[in-house]
Amino acid sequence: MTRLIFLGPPGAGKGTQAKTLAEHQGIPHISTGDILRAALKDETPLGLKAKSYMDKGELVPDLLVQEMVEERLGLPDTSSGWILDGFPRTVKQAEFLDELLKKLSQPSAKVINLDVPDDVVVERLLARGRSDDSEDVIRRRLEVYRGETSPLIDYYDQRHQLATVNGNQSLEEVNDALEKAIG
Ligand code: AMP
Repeated sequence: MTRLIFLGPPGAGKGTQAKTLAEHQGIPHISTGDILRAALKDETPLGLKAKSYMDKGELVPDLLVQEMVEERLGLPDTSSGWILDGFPRTVKQAEFLDELLKKLSQPSAKVINLDVPDDVVVERLLARGRSDDSEDVIRRRLEVYRGETSPLIDYYDQRHQLATVNGNQSLEEVNDALEKAIG
């Protein structure tokens, strides 16, 4: 049973790796960024609420994202496992997820920290050129990552849930390292 949380700065390659692994294992890849972007595109109430935060590279408020994740993890396709990509992003969200998984009777997940140096991350984000990837927004997203999300590395390390994988290698090498890390 694979239940995995992907941590790492924007541009670390979380999305690509999480998607590949999820396909390989036949389990859902749950990306809160993807869900939010779809909501934005469809102009749903959630999308409209999230837009101003996403445009600035800020985090969408915890409660909104938490509700979204609770709904998603409650769908039947999650019974055989899942990969969370982009959630949790704050200690509050991590505490919420601990409680939610308890409620769903799902034993604690494993957390992969995809580690990539800052300069490589900036280079990758600039090359990617998504509409929310202007240089100011990239800088802000990295600041937010350092301030709000990187404390989760200690949070999960203390709970003995963390494995770190070097994300600064070829796609295949990262994939091999990941498969090893999850055993
Ligand atoms: P991502 O594709 O994961 O980089 O997410 C894109 C944007 O969606 C982020 O910059 C945030 O504005 C928002 N977002 C995604 N996941 C979360 C989350 N767990 N908490 C708050 N905001 C999020």
